[in-house]
Amino acid sequence: MASDCRYNKPMAAPDSRRYISRVGKTEGPFTIDEIYDMVIARKMDHNAMFWSESKKSWKFLPGLMLDVDPDHLDQFIKDGVKQVRVQGSGPKDCPACSVLADKIFPVDNPPLLPPVGCQCVPWCRLVFAAVQG
Ligand SMILES: [Zn+2]
Repeated sequence: MASDCRYNKPMAAPDSRRYISRVGKTEGPFTIDEIYDMVIARKMDHNAMFWSESKKSWKFLPGLMLDVDPDHLDQFIKDGVKQVRVQGSGPKDCPACSVLADKIFPVDNPPLLPPVGCQCVPWCRLVFAAVQG
């Protein structure tokens, strides 16, 4: 069985592609830039899903950035970090994300990102940052 915990977790290249599923159809694969353009042009929204090769499952579009650039929680724990702060991107965060922004959590019990109900356009931009000290 494949493990997500391998130290050499592959970093997706910026030009990596994702299949998209919406209204029962699978399309693509598209580059991240192409997906971004489609969302901004309102050709798809947060109800679209993308295929996550690392998770071997379909995920809602707001989780795309976290699939391209996974969180660094494993590394934080290795480095002895005890707490993480959820960093938002400001007033463009959706209500579900705004609730979490700037809050601090134990590194071994972080909230799910993107949060359930995230409707960010084009996708969730929340990230974990290590709290020093
Ligand atoms: Zn959101």
